[in-house]
Amino acid sequence: MATDWIKKQVDELKDQHLYNNILTIESPIGPEITINDKKLLNFCSNNYLGLANHPNLREAAKAAIDKFGIGPAAVRTIAGTTSLHKELEEKLAKFKKAEAVITFQTGFVANLAVIPALVGEGDLIFSDELNHASIIDGCKLTKAEVIRYAHISPSDLEEKLKAAPKDCKKLVITDGVFSMDGDIAPLDKIYEVTSKYGAMLMVDDAHGEGVLGESGRGIVDHFHLHGKVDVEVGTMSKGFGVMGGLAAGKLEVIEWLSQRGRPFLFSSAMTIPDVGACIAAVTLLENSGGLVKKLWDNADYLRSGLKKLGFDTGTSITPIIPIMLGEAETAQNMSKKLFEEGLFAKAIVYPTVPQGKARIRVMNSAGHSKEQLDRALEIFEKCKPS
Ligand SMILES: *Cc1c(COP(=O)(O)O)cnc(C)c1O
Repeated sequence: MATDWIKKQVDELKDQHLYNNILTIESPIGPEITINDKKLLNFCSNNYLGLANHPNLREAAKAAIDKFGIGPAAVRTIAGTTSLHKELEEKLAKFKKAEAVITFQTGFVANLAVIPALVGEGDLIFSDELNHASIIDGCKLTKAEVIRYAHISPSDLEEKLKAAPKDCKKLVITDGVFSMDGDIAPLDKIYEVTSKYGAMLMVDDAHGEGVLGESGRGIVDHFHLHGKVDVEVGTMSKGFGVMGGLAAGKLEVIEWLSQRGRPFLFSSAMTIPDVGACIAAVTLLENSGGLVKKLWDNADYLRSGLKKLGFDTGTSITPIIPIMLGEAETAQNMSKKLFEEGLFAKAIVYPTVPQGKARIRVMNSAGHSKEQLDRALEIFEKCKPS
């Protein structure tokens, strides 16, 4: 049969410990979750501030449904823009101290919308070598040439910008917080280099929303680069605890995205309950200083605890903490052991990270109690590969 090759490929993945076993969660997302009727400490979700099951968001989603129903039943540009969508965008712009914000269905989609709207044939994209898959795919949708620069290296970026022809449009793209290593792009230095060579600058702040900056305003706020970064892409699927993507920036950039962002033009709008919940999330974030601090305190506590136990946490300085293990099999086995001991933290293997750089990725949240963190450290110690 024409699809016989698929079974072979899947078997190969299983042999190489690269097959992704997708587990089913039977409870709301929180510091503890239920899988196979088993209660587990959860260190896997991007639920940084514990908003995924927050009562305010639940109530806001219900209230939005009562007022507007469920589906917008159209793309934004035809009949899918409700006053609720506008309210969210205005609220986000104020929160992020940006001139304007446009929302998309997801963060992934935001990258597919933004990048091809900004560059095309004959243009150049400069992309950090560890940028997220959605950025890579967004770049592929353009006919621009992609030049990869060394991870978080403004000097390598500068060399590549210097070597490029002067008369073409250029776009520099970086993740804000890198999702697999938990390090942060030096956006201030990247901005210096980028502006020196007249290139546009785009940052994808998916793991910085709700995490970096004052009350989780994100990486642009963290580096005080308001009005300087041309486009800040973000997601409401992580720290915000809901679902949705966004782009923040100058009015003319956002207006252009509403005219030329293809997923905005050709894919239906965010659903009503999502938009309602996101509005509630921003309201919470506006006063979230304490929550964000708790998130960082928890992360620092867990990271130093893991280091004391002799684990290699790589270059992490954020609530994303990898436990570097090397071989996929080691990581898969440790994840399995953790699960048996009552802790959920998944192995991350190729192609999500390079071959030989398999790891357990530990995701922190403000929702974990000190007791839960101590219990987690005990379990990590018990499951440490010899
Ligand atoms: C998670 C992530 C996305 C995708 O966001 P979704 O809203 O889940 O689609 C995009 N970019 C980066 C850097 C991410 O980490």
